[in-house]
Amino acid sequence: MISKKTLITRDNFDKLILPIYNPIPFIPIKGKGSRIWDQKGKEYIDFSGGIAVTSLGHCHPILNKTLKNQSKMLWHLSNIFTNEPALRLAKKLLSSSFASRIFFANSGAEANEAAFKLARYYSSKIYNFKKNKIISFYNSFHGRTFFTVSVGGQSKYSNNFGPKPAGIVHASFNDINSVKNLIDHDTCAVVVELIQGEGGVIPANLTFVQALKELCKQYNVLLIFDEIQTGIGRTGKLFYYEYYAITPDILTIAKSLGGGFPISAMLTTNEVASVIAPGIHGTTYGGNPLACAVAESVIDIINTKKVLSGVEKKSKKIISELNIINKRFKLFTEIRGRGLLIGIVLKPNVSHNIHKILNFSFSEGVVFLTAGNNVIRLAPSLIIKELDIIEGMKRFYRALEKYLSRKE
Ligand code: PLP
Repeated sequence: MISKKTLITRDNFDKLILPIYNPIPFIPIKGKGSRIWDQKGKEYIDFSGGIAVTSLGHCHPILNKTLKNQSKMLWHLSNIFTNEPALRLAKKLLSSSFASRIFFANSGAEANEAAFKLARYYSSKIYNFKKNKIISFYNSFHGRTFFTVSVGGQSKYSNNFGPKPAGIVHASFNDINSVKNLIDHDTCAVVVELIQGEGGVIPANLTFVQALKELCKQYNVLLIFDEIQTGIGRTGKLFYYEYYAITPDILTIAKSLGGGFPISAMLTTNEVASVIAPGIHGTTYGGNPLACAVAESVIDIINTKKVLSGVEKKSKKIISELNIINKRFKLFTEIRGRGLLIGIVLKPNVSHNIHKILNFSFSEGVVFLTAGNNVIRLAPSLIIKELDIIEGMKRFYRALEKYLSRKE
């Protein structure tokens, strides 16, 4: 038995936890803003942001206060009741979006699962049961439940789990002809990430999304935007679709919404929601008062001119620092993304060393993510301080210097 006094080390992970992850060797025990500290007191600047989740950094004082206050009122009720935080959050999200109805869940995958089920249900009720084909894109990522991972465009994640759900096809991202070849009157939904996050931080072209919208109209197909990674201010707008001036029929959000407290949501129109009646879908924890109270505070802070315009400024600062670094080391071919979802594309002759570069970065006290197999991804707090950006980039510079002068 492990007593509370036993030193918990990274080795324990290998013995205790199902090895589906390979976590960084140090264990963070404390965070404040964009900095985290490990068990030895070493400090790191965090550009990983809990994989685009800790939208207001670590332990934001207002979120701490909200969580504490709500924890004294009510933790959980289940959906045999509704609750005030859920209703307040619903009002705020719906009044800032295209949508009129919302469903709360706990993770991105669950929000997408609900979206895909809703699209099929709607189409079977309004049209016919044969209208169930879902079109998604190669390289996309929509979660790890079996339905969502099968819709996702990376078969390495969905193979070897037995028969996959039928009626799912994949088109090439940013290639409208590839969609035209697949879409027909049996199609119920097209689902797209407006920036493929896990796939390599690849934005969808405006003309591609416009053409998708037109095709969907033509074939009575629901358009689903998966904004689990791009939503809630990450790109400098509350929702990334605002830049495209195109609205979906269904939108999914998660990650930044809870600032670190698990919560997700699926938003839709009255028309699509009209087929739903009690019992058709559900989840025990969805709309949990603790999660909704925290998310309400997150929205109150993020959905302001100051924070949203700050995202653009911070993004520009990071990109200009990265360009300076690249002038010196010439390791990147491109820096892409939008707002504070940034991908640094490594040159082909360096990309196989991406994990080495990240390890040198950890040693220097700065944390990044990867995306695809050749992209270093940054998804920091939306309110990361300029000082942290400058210090983080200095550490990255030193890390690259050490990477280039390493002896193998
Ligand atoms: N959709 C997108 C675009 C994502 O980036 C992710 C997670 O990375 C998901 C869905 C799945 O979210 P979760 O891991 O919370 O289930």
